Amino acid sequence: MHFAESIVDLIGNTPLVKLNHVTDGIAATVLVKLEYLNPGGSAKDRIATRIIDAAEREGKLKPGGTIVEPTSGNTGVGLALVAQQRGYRCIFVLPDKVGEDKINVLSAYGAEVVVTPTAVAPDSPESYYGVSDRLVREIPGAFKPDQFSNQNGPLSHYESTGPEIWRDTDGTVTHFVAGVGTGGTISGTGRYLREVSGDTVRIIGADPEGSVYSGGTGRPYLVEGVGEDFWPTAYDPTVPHEVLAVSDADAFAMTRRLAREEGILVGGSSGMAVVAALRAAAELGPDAVVVVLLPDGGRGYLGKIFNDKWLRSYGFSNAPSGHTVAELLA
Ligand code: PMP
Repeated sequence: MHFAESIVDLIGNTPLVKLNHVTDGIAATVLVKLEYLNPGGSAKDRIATRIIDAAEREGKLKPGGTIVEPTSGNTGVGLALVAQQRGYRCIFVLPDKVGEDKINVLSAYGAEVVVTPTAVAPDSPESYYGVSDRLVREIPGAFKPDQFSNQNGPLSHYESTGPEIWRDTDGTVTHFVAGVGTGGTISGTGRYLREVSGDTVRIIGADPEGSVYSGGTGRPYLVEGVGEDFWPTAYDPTVPHEVLAVSDADAFAMTRRLAREEGILVGGSSGMAVVAALRAAAELGPDAVVVVLLPDGGRGYLGKIFNDKWLRSYGFSNAPSGHTVAELLA
């Protein structure tokens, strides 16, 4: 019989697949690592497991304990999934601008969700951070993972993502490209690949135009899950050799091409990372093996990146329009 003991045991060991169409004119091999094939649908399942394991070991989480985190996205799903299997209560604090779909996903896994108003000062007790801090203080046995400073985030990638890439490329990987959000993915995976290769693998970050990692001040951008307006300690700035800035327009256009031309339905931060990877790969020869990490799937973005009306409302002209029957029969 071949089965996993629990859903948590299926986290990691995601596959690599070669890009064949968007790489037209590029000599290097470009491989993408599909993190949406994790059970919770993103790379964040990896950090959730490592963060909860460490908190149990360190006595910060005890049986019956509660996990409290201000997160609306993939980290919440990862934490909810692992917490549920281990019998912990999960409370996520979300700003009211977050869409109902994201709230529904977290509730579906049995997490409790508290919605806080966006229109209050960040230091107000009603704010996103104010409410989560109060819940941690007042709920006995509460634990706040804090993915932006928790070193178990980068460590999970050092221990799993990095070794998987090295193993699956038979040690031939020459470049690794990943988007930077908390910085955990690039710092942990990049550090492992540099160490194991005798420091020959080149590590390239991808960042939304305007974010601090590529020299900006934190100007708003639309791509989700990446870029920052501060420097989290989960990010080790000595790991990447360079960080390339990518515009929303380029990121979204590539995200759509990945679905239409490669059959890979992923989120906008994945498109962004592929744009950076192809820019780097354009200068490389046929022996180069470029691995790009794609953090999550595209289903959570159907109303945005994959919606022509939404794209056009932000002035992105590359949204193809729908077809009429007459056009199809012409
Ligand atoms: N893409 C998406 C969709 C994410 O949710 C995240 C995590 N914030 C990232 C990319 C970036 O990963 P990391 O936080 O490890 O830098």
